[in-house]
Amino acid sequence: MNNFVLNRPPDVARCVAAAAQPGASFIAGGTTVIDLWKLGAYPVTQLVDLNGLALRGISAGPGGLKLGALARMSAVGEHADVKTHYPLVAQALLLSASPQIRNMGTMGGNLLQRPRSLAYRNPDPQRRDGPSRFDALFGVTGHSRAPHPSDLAVALTALDASVRIAGAAPRGERTLKLSEFYRIPQDSLKFDTLQPGEMITAVEASVPFARHSAYIKIRDRASYQFAIVSAAVALDLDGDTIREARIAAGGVGTIPWRFPAAESALAGQRATPESFTRAIARLDRGAVTHEFNLFKVDLLRRTTLRALEAALAAT
Ligand SMILES: Cc1cc2nc3c(=O)[nH]c(=O)nc-3n(C[C@H](O)[C@H](O)[C@H](O)COP(=O)(O)OP(=O)(O)OC[C@H]3O[C@@H](n4cnc5c(N)ncnc54)[C@H](O)[C@@H]3O)c2cc1C
Repeated sequence: MNNFVLNRPPDVARCVAAAAQPGASFIAGGTTVIDLWKLGAYPVTQLVDLNGLALRGISAGPGGLKLGALARMSAVGEHADVKTHYPLVAQALLLSASPQIRNMGTMGGNLLQRPRSLAYRNPDPQRRDGPSRFDALFGVTGHSRAPHPSDLAVALTALDASVRIAGAAPRGERTLKLSEFYRIPQDSLKFDTLQPGEMITAVEASVPFARHSAYIKIRDRASYQFAIVSAAVALDLDGDTIREARIAAGGVGTIPWRFPAAESALAGQRATPESFTRAIARLDRGAVTHEFNLFKVDLLRRTTLRALEAALAAT
């Protein structure tokens, strides 16, 4: 039995100080931590329980989106203002996991859940998955080709969202764009840039046109399953002309992946099947394929096309 001590400090400063100790880690909803701990793949001597912190706030409106790190997936996904102003976020959350897991899973824990491959879930560091149909197309390194599993992270990447981070002095508080928060695993399996003891306190985004957005998820069965491919799209429309487009995808990158070339191809164009088709033709730039994951290239294009159409139809 691998025992650990469970602490519930009453404020952020003491949580951060406790988690900076060797062998310590945070626990929020526990749906990833306890899963991995039972497998022997989460070696900790101390778990710092964040549930005593007042970080469950949810606000969404024309001025922006702000989600406390401990806001539950179900609470955010069902929130009327999130559904109205940031539909892609609500859709991504309500297509995630199961109702029970969504009732426990938090914003911070969801962004930091581990990929589902053996490399992350097996205590034997030598154990690696062979090539498979799940493999990512982008951000693949010798260390990982497992796609990042979070649906929420894909929607937030399309919004160019930021995370607020609290850490011990001298670093203190900082804010990072998700594009800086996630990093392609280079020299280890670590895919985030948090320092020891640092925690997420909130997630923020400000995209005034996010009402025109959609999240489409393709999976092996209709519920309780991770994405094979997903696409998050937001469109800034002036009549039928696209001022700006945001496109991100899941199931295809070792971290949530954004597509600037396809976004540029849409800017200034009329929102038509032809402009959408030209844009999605650019999605495979840099894709690393093999015989098992090659199907994802076409699936990525089709899923993104559906997300573009759904974002255009959103009122
Ligand atoms: C069967 C199953 C199916 C699933 N399907 C999906 C799916 O389809 N889509 C999807 O997106 N997810 C899916 N999930 C994953 C699920 O959404 C996550 O387990 C959940 O969101 C994690 O949140 P948590 O609060 O329980 O995290 P925890 O388990 O408490 O923590 C996860 C990690 O985050 C760290 N952490 C937690 N909070 C913070 C914080 N504030 N700051 C810093 N570090 C923190 C912990 O130390 C730990 O390393 C599935 C999970 C299961 C078990």
